[in-house]
Amino acid sequence: MLGLMQDWPLLMHRIIDHAALYHGRREVVSRSVEGPIHRTNYAQVAARARKVAQRLARDGVKQGDRVATLAWNTWRHLEAWYGITGIGAVYHTVNPRLFPDQIVWIVNDAEDRVIMVDLTFVPLLEQIQDRLPGVERFVILTDAAHMPQTTLRNATCYEEWIGAVDGDFAWAAFDENTAAGLCYTSGTTGSPKGVLYSHRSNVLHAMIACTSGMLGLASSDVVLPVVPMFHANAWSLGHSVPMAGAKLVLPGAKLDGASVHELIVGEGVTFSAGVPTVWFGLLAHLEATGADLGHMTRTVIGGSACPRAMSKAFKERYDVQVMHAWGMTEMSPLGTVCTLKPEVAGLEGDAYFDLMMKQGHSPFGVDMKITDDDGTELARDGKVFGRLKVRGPAVARRYFRHENEEILDADGYFDTGDVGTIDPNGYLQITDRAKDVIKSGGEWISSIDLENLAVAHPDVAEAAVIGVAHPKWDERPLLVIVPKKGALSDPSAVIDFMQGKIAKWWLPDAAVIVDEIPHTATGKIDKVTLRKRLADYRLPGF
Ligand code: ADP
Repeated sequence: MLGLMQDWPLLMHRIIDHAALYHGRREVVSRSVEGPIHRTNYAQVAARARKVAQRLARDGVKQGDRVATLAWNTWRHLEAWYGITGIGAVYHTVNPRLFPDQIVWIVNDAEDRVIMVDLTFVPLLEQIQDRLPGVERFVILTDAAHMPQTTLRNATCYEEWIGAVDGDFAWAAFDENTAAGLCYTSGTTGSPKGVLYSHRSNVLHAMIACTSGMLGLASSDVVLPVVPMFHANAWSLGHSVPMAGAKLVLPGAKLDGASVHELIVGEGVTFSAGVPTVWFGLLAHLEATGADLGHMTRTVIGGSACPRAMSKAFKERYDVQVMHAWGMTEMSPLGTVCTLKPEVAGLEGDAYFDLMMKQGHSPFGVDMKITDDDGTELARDGKVFGRLKVRGPAVARRYFRHENEEILDADGYFDTGDVGTIDPNGYLQITDRAKDVIKSGGEWISSIDLENLAVAHPDVAEAAVIGVAHPKWDERPLLVIVPKKGALSDPSAVIDFMQGKIAKWWLPDAAVIVDEIPHTATGKIDKVTLRKRLADYRLPGF
C-alpha cells in the first residue's frame, strides 16, 4: 500500500522560489567583478533567474544540455545556476584555476553548448576557443558599459541577453532525478571525472546542510561563502543559504585578507566558509591591523585539514568557532562537520582542540564505515584506521560518461580514497589520502598529522610530508618546509621540535627547505608534483 501524501518533486527552483516568496527582501550582496559592491535580494535574483531560463530556452538550449560557468561568487552566477536548472539544463562549474589544457578537456568532455564567463576569464577563453568547437555562445557576465572588445564567437553581454526577454516564464516540470549540476574532480589521479548531481540530490543535500548538527543555518544568519561556487557547489551554500533565507554575501574575485575582512565587518557576516589558505590570509591581516571579526561566530574550514593553530587563533583571539568539515566533490560535497554532540560538549582546553582536529560526525543521509584493503569493516574505536567508505542520497553512484563502471561495493558504499578513524561517538578523523599515507615497514604513517605538527613551529610557513624510498623500511617520511621570511637556517630544528609529540618511529628521517610547495587548482598540496620534484632525493646515508 502506498502512502497518500503529495508528490512534490525535489526541484532546484523550489529553493529560489521559497527564498523569493518568504525571504524576498533578504539581501544578496556581492563584490562585483567590475569593482563596486552590488546589492540585490532573493525576489530579484529569482525573477532574473527566470529570465535566464527563458532566454536559454529561446536560444534552443534543451533539457539535459550543459551550460558551463567560469565565474566567481556573485549574484549573476547564482541567477545562472537557478536559471539553467529551471529548464532542466545542467550547470557545469569549471574551475578557472585549472591549466588551459585541462579546461579544454573538461569543456569538451561535458559538451558544453554555452559558456557564461566573468570578465576576468575572457582572455583565457579567447586563447582556447578554437579548441572548443562545441561551444555555440559565450555570455559575458557583465553590463553593456563594461562589455569588453572580444574575439569570442557569438559573445553576448549578460545584462542585454536577459534584458531581451520579459521574465514571464514558468519553470519546466520534470522528474526530480533529472541532472542539475556537473563538477569535475580535479584529477589528482588520472583524467578528471565528472560528478553529475541531480535536482533531488542537490535539494536533499541542502536540507541536510541546514540541519543544526551540520551548518545550522538560520534566516538570521549572514553567510559569506569564500569557497568558490566552482569548488563542489560552494559546499552547498548556493543552495542551503537561500533555502534557509539567510542574507548572502558573495566575495567576487577578491579573496585576500583585507577584502574578505571588509565584507565580514561591513555586512555583519555571522558565518563563513573556506579552505585553510584563505584563512591564513585573513588571520595575517587581523594580526597586522589589530582588527576583529565583528559579528562572526562560526566558520567552516575544510577541503584540507584545518591546522590546530588556526582553530585556536579563531577561538581564543576572535571568539569564532571553527567548524572543521570534510567532504568531496563526489559527496555534493559535505560528509562530516565537527559540531558538538552532548558526549563531548563539556570538553575544554587541549581536549577541546583535540576534538576540533577531527573532521566531525556524519548527518542523517551520510553513512560511513572504515575497512581494510579486503573490504572487512574495522572497529569504530578512534584508533585503527582504514579506507573510508560512504553512501547516501547525495553521494555519486557513477561518473559522467563512465556509466558502465561500477564504483560502489556490494553494500552500495563509495571508496573515498581517504584513510581515517571513527571514534565511539562517531567522529571521523582523516589520517591521510590512501595514496599519500607513508608505508613504513608494513605500518602506516599519516602525512597529515606530521604536517600539522610541523606548521605549529613558529618559523614554518607551510609544510608537506612525502614518503621516500628506504632500503629497509620501504618508505620513510621526508619533511618539506617553506620557512617564514628570513627564518630557519637549519630545517632539522623542526624535527627536533616534533620530538616527544608523536611516536618516535613516525618522526621524519630528514627535512629539506624549498622556496615553494606546489598546489592543485583546489588549493591542496600537490603531492604528485612534489614527489616528482624530489624524485632524485636520497635520504642521508643512502
Ligand atoms: P579533489 O578533486 O581534489 O579530490 P575535492 O574537493 O573533491 O577535490 O577534495 C576532496 C578531498 O579533500 C577529500 O577526499 C580529502 O582527501 C580532502 N579533504 C577535504 N576536507 C578535508 C579535511 N577537513 N581534512 C583533510 N582532508 C580533507
